[in-house]
Amino acid sequence: MTIGYTRPTKAIINREAIYHNIKKHQKLVGDDVDVFAVVKANGYGHGAVQTAQIAVQAGVNGFCVSLLDEALELREAGITLPILILGVIPPYYGAAAADEGISVTVPSYEWLEHATRQLIEDKPSQLPLRLHLGIDTGMGRIGFREVEELKQAIDFIQAHPTLLELEGVFTHFSKADSKDESYFALQQARFAEAMKIVPNGVRYRHTANSATTLWHDHWQSNMVRIGASMYGINPSGDELEPPFELEPAMSLETMIVHVKQVAPGEKIGYGATYETTENEWIATIPIGYADGFVRRFQGFSVLVDGEYCEIVGRVCMDQSMIRLPRKFEEGTKVTIFGENNGQVISLQAGAEHIGSINYEIPCVLSERVPLVYT
Ligand code: PLP
Repeated sequence: MTIGYTRPTKAIINREAIYHNIKKHQKLVGDDVDVFAVVKANGYGHGAVQTAQIAVQAGVNGFCVSLLDEALELREAGITLPILILGVIPPYYGAAAADEGISVTVPSYEWLEHATRQLIEDKPSQLPLRLHLGIDTGMGRIGFREVEELKQAIDFIQAHPTLLELEGVFTHFSKADSKDESYFALQQARFAEAMKIVPNGVRYRHTANSATTLWHDHWQSNMVRIGASMYGINPSGDELEPPFELEPAMSLETMIVHVKQVAPGEKIGYGATYETTENEWIATIPIGYADGFVRRFQGFSVLVDGEYCEIVGRVCMDQSMIRLPRKFEEGTKVTIFGENNGQVISLQAGAEHIGSINYEIPCVLSERVPLVYT
């Protein structure tokens, strides 16, 4: 993918914000709890390697990713801290993970058996392969749901000590970010039940994503997996107030590249969905749905010199049009998310407009939009 370095559209990442957010989480959980920074999906769009480097400086204990490729990218960038893959890797890639000292999630007994057979064949340079057993307590995604199958997996791992190491056991809560705690309580009870058969020596027991860390005292975890809140994103949207201020790390900025006055009754954009009602100043900004700025942003407002300007007409593939309150020169800064002259547009406001969640907006920004670190 070609990156638009010559175009004024940039996602600006504030390193200090990520650093300070990590420091605040470390203080919240205390010294006895390890902090793993979740940098999957290119660090939620913030840059995986760059975020990991900031996180190393802030003193995190490890990283979580979703794909083996993401883990290998960190290793290639010189990250030597522990890495846990939270997704399911194909069982025949166990040796590739072991070779790099990367820990993997076990989603089922069947997966474990298959991966072990393959390890015996592939003879990785580093053994044992470190495993985290995923317990599906109600997310319905991956992991053990039956205590019997879990027991079978633990026995199997213990029977293969040179090949396999049981490093962790974990679950993932689906409603830790809500005022209604009933489903969270059900998942807690199921995890507690599963834990009864897990041997004491297992290094990590972890249940805490950002929301569980912020609002549930990182319930029963000696390691937390923080993603959204590290980037300054409130995992509850705005339902719950975090115990400390989360500093948003990403701003999205561009510039007016074209401006004109349009007479009343003129149409703007594909489908001619917007019609001017008076003499209107219409500016064009170089961002569109191919940048991950989805078409549903039509009608959302961006900031020009601290003033809200509506996106009029449909968002095009590479460009969008906005209505200005008065003439602004070409080259004037436009803030889509972030601060502009005392006003702020949050990812949450964008998410509400497009009927999504704040996580999604930075994640879907396309590679075409350069990430600039300040
Ligand atoms: N743990 C698991 C298993 C996840 O899937 C995720 C993200 O989806 C996280 C932790 C991090 O979640 P959050 O970004 O809400 O902190």
